[in-house]
Amino acid sequence: MVLDYTFVKYWAVAISLFICASCQITPVKDPNIVLDANPIEEDLPSNEDSLDKIVPEGKTDQVVRPKTDTIKSNMPKQEIQVSRDFLMGKYRLANQKLFSKIDKTYANTANRYMHKEAYDAFKKMYEAAKKEGIKLQIVSAARPYHQQKAIWSAKWTGKRKVDGENLAKAIPSIKERALKILEYSSMPGTSRHHWGTDIDINNLNNSYFEKGKGKQEYDWLVANAANFGFHQPYTQKGAARPNGYEEEKWHWSYLPLAQPYLNQYLQEITIEDITALDFAGAKSAAPIQVIEHYVLGIAENCK
Ligand SMILES: [Zn+2]
Repeated sequence: MVLDYTFVKYWAVAISLFICASCQITPVKDPNIVLDANPIEEDLPSNEDSLDKIVPEGKTDQVVRPKTDTIKSNMPKQEIQVSRDFLMGKYRLANQKLFSKIDKTYANTANRYMHKEAYDAFKKMYEAAKKEGIKLQIVSAARPYHQQKAIWSAKWTGKRKVDGENLAKAIPSIKERALKILEYSSMPGTSRHHWGTDIDINNLNNSYFEKGKGKQEYDWLVANAANFGFHQPYTQKGAARPNGYEEEKWHWSYLPLAQPYLNQYLQEITIEDITALDFAGAKSAAPIQVIEHYVLGIAENCK
C-alpha cells in the first residue's frame, strides 16, 4: 500500500510539534522564568538543535552570550531569561523554584539555599575536594534583596560597626559612607548572591586563606574550581581589576549561570532601578556608578 505523502508529512509535523511543546512546557510554566509576552511559538527557534538554547537549566553551556561592553545595550536579549525581580533579589527564598535548600553536609547552618544547577556542581566539587583531604563548607549562598538590605542598613546606621567604626557618625557624606560599605558589601539589588549562583566558602577573611589549612583550601580551589564551573570574581584589585569590591578569596561564582544572568542584568537593570530602591543611601548608586564599577567590577574571565 502506498501512503499519501501529504498525509505522512502532516503527521510528521504534528508529532514533532508535540515533542517540541513537551520540551518547552516545564520552563514556560515556571513562574521564575519570564519569556517575552510574545506567543511561545514565536520564541521557538527554527531548528531543534537550537532548542537547547532556550532551556534554562542544565543546558547553559550552549548559551550564546552577547558581548557586554556597554551597559543597557541594544543587543539581542539573552536566551536564558529570568525576571527583573529575580535579578534584583526580589523574591522569598522558600518560594524560589530555581533554588534548592542546601543540605547541612555542605553548609555551616541550615536554611541556606542556592540555584539547583550550581548546587549540583558544588556537590561534585565538594566530593572531589574531600578525596584530597579538603573540606569545603558553604558559609553564605543565595541572599534575597531583603537580606542584603538588612546587612546594608546595619552598616549604614552604625548598628553594625565597620572596621571598628560607627559609619553613621564617622562618615556623614552619603557617597563616602556608601563607598566604605562597598568595600565588602553589595548594595541591595546589585549582589551576585541574589542569583543563587554565588557562594562564600569556609571563611570570610582573606587572612584565613593565606596560611595553613586555609591556604591549602584556597590553593585547591584556584587549581580545581574551574573544572566544576566555579570562579573567583573578586580577585586582587589592580590594573586587571581596577574597580569594585576588595579581594574576596572566599567568594566563588558558578559561571555557566552567572554569566548569562550578568548579561541580562546589564541589559535590563538601569541605575535608575537601583536609586529607586528603598534602602538607605540608594541615591548614591548614581554618582558611584554602582553597576559599572561594582556589578562589572569583576575579574575579566567572569564577564
Ligand atoms: Zn560572597
